[in-house]
Amino acid sequence: MIARSERMPVLFVGHGSPMNIVAHNSYTEDLARTAKELPKPKAILVVSAHWLTEGTCVCGLEKPRTIYDFYGFPDELYKIRYPCPGSPEEAAQVIRLIKSTQVNYDEKWGLDHASWAVLKHMYPKADVPVFEMSLDYSPYNDWHPKPIEYHYRLAAELAPLREQGILIIGSGNIVHNLGLIDFDTDAKPVEWAKKFDEKVRTALENTNHKALLDYLALGQEAHYAVPTIDHYLPMIYVIAMQQKGEPLKFIHEGFQNGSVSMRAFQIG
Ligand code: ZN
Repeated sequence: MIARSERMPVLFVGHGSPMNIVAHNSYTEDLARTAKELPKPKAILVVSAHWLTEGTCVCGLEKPRTIYDFYGFPDELYKIRYPCPGSPEEAAQVIRLIKSTQVNYDEKWGLDHASWAVLKHMYPKADVPVFEMSLDYSPYNDWHPKPIEYHYRLAAELAPLREQGILIIGSGNIVHNLGLIDFDTDAKPVEWAKKFDEKVRTALENTNHKALLDYLALGQEAHYAVPTIDHYLPMIYVIAMQQKGEPLKFIHEGFQNGSVSMRAFQIG
């Protein structure tokens, strides 16, 4: 347990295919190593690419269920449970903390695979309480989701949780276009995916949040890399909590399925 005065790092993790749940590769090794290097968290808050709601929700279940929100995968994946405790108190705290909007207290959701596929490698004992936060995907302007800056401002309000030993993980993918994936996990990465991932990498290294928010201006490949913002947004939540001068390091770099960027990074 860390002292209250220490600030917990914040992580962005690319989660990719649910096949990673049972895989053992350089990506799963990097996740496991990262967890070992971090102070043990009091609780984990996952901002999930797979929980899209009207308004923002936090899940306050004491025993979050393992959600199998993927279809057509081998039977063994549907038999795995991630039996961690939840954290109703921390979920309630998030509601008090966020002032810019009313966050909803949810008692139905649980943990989708954006959480447990990653946490299974990081905390295999499932002994740290976990709760999820959704992405507000409600129609806003011309039926598009809320602007990315809205999420950036909302996420910044979560930063004080870091001072309390809470590990915040954004789980999505920087490049994610399911319509253009290769079913071979180890397929050679395609040019547009590499190009976009490289530009994001540079912006992260330069703390250029403006470029990351205005991602369509990064080039034409952005339209292929981020066809919808659900998997990109968790990264925006993470950078929004970066304090002045705080270092960023890459935990994992690489691609799966030809175009899915598995890039993961740590701030702090
Ligand atoms: Zn996903």
